[in-house]
Amino acid sequence: AENIERHSYDVVVIGAGGAGLRAAIEARQAGKRVAIISKSLFGKAHTVMAEGGAAAAMGNVNAKDNWQVHFRDTMRGGKFLNHFRMAELHAKEAPDRIWELETWGALFDRTKDGKISQRNFGGHEYPRLAHVGDRTGLELIRTLQQRVVALQQEDKAANGDYESHLRVFAETTIVRLLKDAEGRIAGAVGYYRETGQFVLFQAPAVILATGGIGRSYTVTSNSWEYTGDGHALALLAGATLVNMEFIQFHPTGMVWPPSVKGILVTESVRGDGGVLRNSEGKRFMFDYVPDVFRKQYAETEEEADRWYNDQENNRRPPELLPRDEVARSINSEVKAGRGTPNGGVYLDVSTRLPADEIRRRLPSMYHQFKELADVDITAKPMEVGPTCHYVMGGVEVDPDTQGTNVPGLYAAGECAGGMHGSNRLGGNSLSDLLVFGRRAGLHAAEYLDSFDADGRPAVVAEDVDAAVEEALAPLSNADGENPYTLHHDLQITMNTLVGIIRKPEEVSEALGKLEEFKPRHKKVGSTGGRRFNPGWHVALDLRNMLIVSECVAKAALEREESRGGHTRDDFPAMSPTWRQVNLICSLSADGTGVDLKHQPIPTVRPDLLALFELSELKKYFTDEELAVLEPVAI
Ligand code: FAD
Repeated sequence: AENIERHSYDVVVIGAGGAGLRAAIEARQAGKRVAIISKSLFGKAHTVMAEGGAAAAMGNVNAKDNWQVHFRDTMRGGKFLNHFRMAELHAKEAPDRIWELETWGALFDRTKDGKISQRNFGGHEYPRLAHVGDRTGLELIRTLQQRVVALQQEDKAANGDYESHLRVFAETTIVRLLKDAEGRIAGAVGYYRETGQFVLFQAPAVILATGGIGRSYTVTSNSWEYTGDGHALALLAGATLVNMEFIQFHPTGMVWPPSVKGILVTESVRGDGGVLRNSEGKRFMFDYVPDVFRKQYAETEEEADRWYNDQENNRRPPELLPRDEVARSINSEVKAGRGTPNGGVYLDVSTRLPADEIRRRLPSMYHQFKELADVDITAKPMEVGPTCHYVMGGVEVDPDTQGTNVPGLYAAGECAGGMHGSNRLGGNSLSDLLVFGRRAGLHAAEYLDSFDADGRPAVVAEDVDAAVEEALAPLSNADGENPYTLHHDLQITMNTLVGIIRKPEEVSEALGKLEEFKPRHKKVGSTGGRRFNPGWHVALDLRNMLIVSECVAKAALEREESRGGHTRDDFPAMSPTWRQVNLICSLSADGTGVDLKHQPIPTVRPDLLALFELSELKKYFTDEELAVLEPVAI
């Protein structure tokens, strides 16, 4: 068999974005030996691209903010499908995680009196996003990496080896998780992208922190790594995914020129005063405020404009509705023939703020449009449209420990599910990474303490061979199907048939196509050897994209309602009975597809429900639930 490089660790963290790094730091601080693995270069993850900021109810800009209000906003944004316990932990712990970053060297933008400044964002009642201009993710990753280096320096001082407790394996893709004979996690197999050499990591605990799935869609803000690897690795190892039908289409991606279609235009543009107009010049969002949100949003342009300076006495502009609402509204305007020449709508900040202010507050956006589209956003509106951005669905985890149903397997960050319900609020991801990355690291370390040195789960040699054989298969299909063609066909299928608005006949058609793609995938081949061979890498990523897309399509066909990031053409309303259901995907018994089952959603604790008015809960809950709730709600 293959001569495979071997390593032994306590914890293997797959992914070096915010969630992975925060998890690794926590496990190392608990004294564990940790490997951090990243498919791309170290430091290049979606977390770096996060622009707007990290949501944390510190109350620095509006003292009325607190965890209860943040919890409420998160549940509203997710339309009550969130795991309440995750939303609670997130709201309570986010401020500490931001503070901790400052103690590790982060420097957030300041208020006039020197506190961490906070900006407005869609769905957040008060200014809440801690930020560094529009480059927050960069500061976050920079700080976490700096913390990793600081810990490595401590290790060097203590035992002469920088990498004794924390080692980074960059440009290394994990292709399979391994379990022992008892079904506990025992390690993972991957390959170095540059050489094609395989590598085995033996470890009792694995933390998945692999981010999103956007590359299954044509128009996406996601970069090449985001092929749903963690989701697929979890499924293949026997873990489950929850509510995969919920995908966030960010309302504002670039629509022109074609080469950059999908690239994100940060929500901060709207948070800082940018407005949406159709081709007739109308500020159309006023026509799209749904009933559940009517009380919190301005009815006239005058009131909306006053809000930027006086939030006490005015309601917020409808441009700051949650993302699912804004994306659907833009979609409707374009479909009704009121779109721009390139099929988007206008996002204008040029008539709203002085040019130097725009350049100061939105430096990345200014450069992005100047360089990629030759548009000066201080003088002209941008053209924008929805883009596949974020997956709310993910690996099903325990809300406190981030553990899955496979002993030793944890998931955190975007690849984990539950926290955001049917729709994520902007800024709630960066805080999610910190809160739950830390928790995953902590509990993985605790799990480790249950083993003595010789009682650790052992990998099964045949499983290692099988993983290597599976990964090598495309290289012996030299005349096989071109992986790029199959990838293209998959993207078109998901984009056109399982996109923003879902029709059952189209989703069924997509499922039929996904079945046709399976035998094609078996025949996928790439010429060239194992040394940096992108065609081979895509062939391997396709397994993950196909299985995850099947989860998305199956769940989208099953859920007969519209909620958050899932809109059914034939069931346009939210259904209180569907709110009681989580859709759970698992690998089918023969391993060739996925099974879907209904699972009751956990009952929200009464003290948390009491944070809402009964009149609001009535929009989400069934009559039977309300009969029980009535006595506890205020
Ligand atoms: P990521 O940061 O996505 O990192 C995933 C890691 O996993 C990478 O290191 C990758 O190489 C690795 N990986 C993947 N597969 C494998 C594999 N098979 N083997 C080994 N390694 C693997 N959220 C906010 O809260 N605020 C914002 O302002 C914001 N702006 C955004 C702007 C853009 C353009 C984008 C794309 C997203 C934005 N988001 C924002 C969302 C947020 O950035 C992401 O959801 C978040 O960063 C995900 O973090 P993560 O740690 O889960 O994963």
